[in-house]
Formats: sequence, C-alpha cells, structure tokens
Amino acid sequence: MTENKGRRLFRYYPEDFGALPVRVVHMDITFDVYDGHTRVVSALTAVTLDAPLPSLALNARDLDILRVEAGGYAVAHTYDRDAATLTVTFDPPIPPRTEFTLDTETICRPNTHLLEGLYYDGLCPGGPPAQITQCQQWGFQRLVPCLDDMTAKCTYTTTIIADNGYTATISNGDPVGARIPCAPGRSMQRYENTKTPMAPYLFFLGVGCYDTYRREFEYPDGRIFALELLVKPGSDPIGAEKALDILAGAVMWVHLFTGPEQYRDREIREEIWRLVRVRNEVKRSGDASAVEEIRGRLRKLITTITPGYAYTGAVYREIAMQNSDFGGMENVGNTTIAANRIMPGPDTTDPAFEYLVRVKAHEYYHNENGSEVTGQSPFEIWLNEAVTVHVENQHHAFFFGETYSRLQTVLDLLDPVAGTLTLDRGAGSMPIEPDGFNDPNDLITGVTYVKAPEFVRMIETLMGKEAFAEALGRYHDRVRHANASRADWLRCMEEVSGQDFTTMAAVWLKEKE
Ligand SMILES: [Zn+2]
Repeated sequence: MTENKGRRLFRYYPEDFGALPVRVVHMDITFDVYDGHTRVVSALTAVTLDAPLPSLALNARDLDILRVEAGGYAVAHTYDRDAATLTVTFDPPIPPRTEFTLDTETICRPNTHLLEGLYYDGLCPGGPPAQITQCQQWGFQRLVPCLDDMTAKCTYTTTIIADNGYTATISNGDPVGARIPCAPGRSMQRYENTKTPMAPYLFFLGVGCYDTYRREFEYPDGRIFALELLVKPGSDPIGAEKALDILAGAVMWVHLFTGPEQYRDREIREEIWRLVRVRNEVKRSGDASAVEEIRGRLRKLITTITPGYAYTGAVYREIAMQNSDFGGMENVGNTTIAANRIMPGPDTTDPAFEYLVRVKAHEYYHNENGSEVTGQSPFEIWLNEAVTVHVENQHHAFFFGETYSRLQTVLDLLDPVAGTLTLDRGAGSMPIEPDGFNDPNDLITGVTYVKAPEFVRMIETLMGKEAFAEALGRYHDRVRHANASRADWLRCMEEVSGQDFTTMAAVWLKEKE
C-alpha cells in the first residue's frame, strides 16, 4: 500500500500562499549598478504580528549575501541557495507588534539568458549595457532579499547609482530631485514610491539609453502629470508623438468612460471628451485666453459626473524593451512594452497597431485593477487580468467599433486551430482558477486573457452593464491598496445584483472546456 496523503501533483497549491510572518511596511533600497553586477543595500522595515519573532525566512534567489544586520538585535543568518531562502535569526526574538528594520547588503548579477530579475536589454550606443528588471512573478527575490509575495505590499524609496553614460535611471514612484553626480563618472537618482503600497512583482528598475518624449497630461479638473515615452535612440519623432496621442487618449478614456457611473450622463462625458481635444489643440496654438475659457467649461462639466480612475503619480512612463517574455508589463508608473509595439511606424501592420492600442490601455488600467487592487496570490492572476482585459475590450470597441471588436474576440475564442477553446480542450490546459500550478507562467495563457474575460462579460450580461459598473467600483473602493480574492470580487457582484453566482463561478472557473 502506498500512502497517498501529502502527495503533490502540483508544485504550488493555494495553501502555499498563506499569511505572511510579518507586516512589511517599507523598503529603502540602493542599487549600485555596474556592467556585470549590482551591489544592493536594503533596509526592510516590518512589524511583527501578535507573537515574538525568533526568525524570519526571506526569499533570496542567486544572490551573494555580504551583510545582514538588525539594529538592537544580535543576528545570525543562513543562506540556502537551492531553496532560495535567507533565514535570519534574532537574539532576543523581536517582541510582538514591534517595528524593526533588517539591513542587508547583497550582490545580484544581470542575467544573459533569463528574462526575470535584472537582465541585459540591448546596448547604449557607445555606452554601458542597458539593464532592466522583470519581477512578475518572482523576479524581485533575484534583486534583493525580500518577502516575494503579492500580499507583501509596502512603500519604497529607491536610489540608483549608475554610469553617467545612461540617459535614464528609473524606478517606481516620483523622482526626488534631479540626478546628481556622486562619484567620478557616476550619478545618483532617488525615487519615492510612498502613495501606493506596491506588491513586489510590480517593482521596476531600469538603466539605459533612450530618446525621451514627454508631454503634459491635463485632466478636466486641471490636475496635471507627465506622460513619458522612452524609445530606442533614433526613433521616428512623428511615430513617438502618435504613440503619446494614443496613450493620452487611453488615460482620458479611462477617466471618462470607466468607473461606477460610466453609463450615466453619457452626453456630458462625450462633450468633455470633445472639449479636451479642443483644449489640447488650442494649448498647442498658444492662445492662452482661449485655453482658459475652455478650462473653465471643463472644470464645471467634470463636477456634474462621477469620473473613473485618475492617475496618482507625477510621471507615467512607457519604456521600450527589446527582450521580454511578455508584450507589456505594468510596473506601477513604468510600463514596459515590446519595442516593436510601443510606437507606430510605416511597417506597423493593422493587427500590430491594434495590439499597440490595446496594450497601452491594458497596462495603464492595471494602475487601478492589479496595482492598487491586487489579487491575493498567483491563483488570482486571472482576476487581475480578466477584469483588465474586459475594460481593454471596451476601450478597443470605443475606437474600433463594437461589432468589429466583438467579432475579433469571438474569432480568438473559436479559431479551430489556435483558438482559446481549442487550447482549453487540449491536455495542457488548466481551469481559469486551477487547483495547483507548477510555474506562474502557466497562469498566463489564452485561458487567462480570453476565456476568463468571457466569464467577467457573462456576469456583466446577467447583471446589466450599469449594475456591473457599480459593483466593480465598489470592489475597487473596498479593496484599494490591499489584496483581493475571487470571493471579494464575486461578493461585490452579488451584493449589487442580488444574484447568486456561486454555481456559475464553480463551473466556469474550476472546469475546463
Ligand atoms: Zn495584464
């Protein structure tokens, strides 16, 4: 007889993503970047829970550990390189409900073959090699010892020290002052990401050479922030400006045509949409008094509606990347997009152009759905993605037409060779919310991006669009700056609609085609 109990079919199960041993508050990290290695000095501030904390296991993959300290405590550490775990023991144990700071100094090295953590991404002409990070799903632990879990949301201060040859040294949050010289041939730039506690998979660091296009974005109520497009040196300026037009359109569309009351006051929303375009034209012409007149009308109009999400940072960047496993990634304020899909050009085919429009809206909308409101664990990646794709589809339909847009999705679903439902009937497919998985990338498939949004769309159809928008708004308000489970999302849908979606969710989320 063989004992079956405890036998694991998958590498990861939901119970592997339990409560964290501490509450992470802040990370203050300095990256001293060189061509072949980066020295990382980190101060991780956390608070203990209701029991004393004798030791803490941190995720740390392929790092050299140089120093581990915690002020006021004698500290010992062991590094299990195979398990990618740095275990820190405190003497005495840290008392309950006590804030402490763990200081580490480590070395990470840019990858040449793996597009996770820090890796090379092309060359600066005549300069040092560009390096960028990809942290979804567990890339952050390749940068610094951490709790690499979607619920370990915290604020960040990030300092980048790097070669002067880079035109840009970037991380999440708002820049604190200018980039300043700090050593011969090197300079330092600091970022504060303190408004929105951020999950580790959204961390970004990039050093590279880009042509930077910058534009002021102005909301109808007068609030402004900067849109930045970082593209390959020598890129066509006309294409870059067109790319910024598309991005600015997506940002304004999300503000005016999403949110809990998006279907109310439609004429006013359309009028604001029109007036904003007129204002932008007049702004370019330099007629200051005409701009002020339109601004006055916009300020009045916007108070008569409830708008959708508005960006909270000082800069929203799109950064061209050469190498990635993904077409785009929403690194809070620093969306990376494949270089051949970030700006249109003469060689851009129609499908490539539509992808470009989609990916910009998709990654931007993740600011609200994914970054502010984050799934609880990789088992909720579908929730981050399905709702975001649902809204991306609405954006696509707004610009390309409802029927055309829907037909595209249906063809994606039904294509007999490569369609999502064909994939879903195959041996390698998993349910939208599987019981377990082996690699987080198994959760990023057509099932996630095409079938899961259909589940969201069916809920919307059953509830009605207005009720769905209200419920989605309630979900975002309730879970903002925290983590959401499938139950949290469904509860909002059920509360607003008065319908019971339990059986439907069990079938559609847990079963294959
Ligand atoms: Zn996404």
